[in-house]
Amino acid sequence: NYRIGKNLSWIFLAVNTAFFIFVLYTISGNYHGAFPERFATKFVSGFNAYFLTINLLIFVLTAVFSFYSIENEHNYGSIIVGVGIMLFYCVMTADKVYPVRLILPAIAIFVLVGMFSHWVSCLHHKAHYDPLTRIYNRQYMNSIFDGIADVKLGKEISVLMCDIDHFKKVNDTYGHAAGDLILHKTAQIIRDVSLPEGIVCRYGGEEITVILRDKIEEEAKFKAEKIRKAVKKQVFKFKNKNIRVTLSIGVADTTEGVKGINKAIKKADENVYKAKKRGRDRVVM
Ligand code: GH3
Ligand code: MG
Ligand code: MG
Repeated sequence: NYRIGKNLSWIFLAVNTAFFIFVLYTISGNYHGAFPERFATKFVSGFNAYFLTINLLIFVLTAVFSFYSIENEHNYGSIIVGVGIMLFYCVMTADKVYPVRLILPAIAIFVLVGMFSHWVSCLHHKAHYDPLTRIYNRQYMNSIFDGIADVKLGKEISVLMCDIDHFKKVNDTYGHAAGDLILHKTAQIIRDVSLPEGIVCRYGGEEITVILRDKIEEEAKFKAEKIRKAVKKQVFKFKNKNIRVTLSIGVADTTEGVKGINKAIKKADENVYKAKKRGRDRVVM
């Protein structure tokens, strides 16, 4: 969402800039084409007539958007650019209409608040994501269990503990960089299969935990099988080499909500161990 929002804002800004340059260029008499000149003149007189209304509308839209997206904490980049566009409009014409100057201090405050929120959300993001696998880290998982993160788990929770089989051998055979790549891609596959109901965290080195809300036993096992199959069929390419890995997944559940979560994690861990002992590449309940 953040990336799309940011790209859209940059496109808007570029189109706006091009449009302004076009208008300034044509009405200054440098270009005497019949169509562009007429169009530019019409646009400028139209814009001047509804100047305050247009700017107020943009201001209100940006304000509403920013409040709405406080929860979507990674959208602040686009708000900043959005406010930048507004500033652009106002500065271009501020000396023509007096009330617009009154908006300027408000915009300055707005920009500062946006930047500050963006900075805070970046810190939040850094603290909760694992940079290699691009999934949540263990601290975030713990903050969910402690009730600090704004995630409601409910009473019925399943835990899937996924461990890559013979991962050390992958590192030893193809190098640590290949291992990193496979770890990253595997985490992404697990995340894609687990969304939207699963919360995916890097538990340790090559161990990834999926917390499933409102899912017990059979449903969780079904999800675990789906994850196992998706990773098994993936061919990872590294320097012209095709590498495959498999997962051992331990599943456990609780009906006591976060109170029973530590027991469930421990149980899932034991089931991973059982899966390894039974020959790996399997799910154990
Ligand atoms: P198995 O689980 O099937 O019993 O064997 P394994 O080789 O996967 O198990 P083990 O837990 O002994 O080894 C895990 C290896 O994962 C050790 C370490 O080299 C590797 N590893 C852990 N974190 C990373 C990482 O961030 N990057 C890379 N490349 N390797 C990692
Ligand atoms: Mg391990
Ligand atoms: Mg392993």
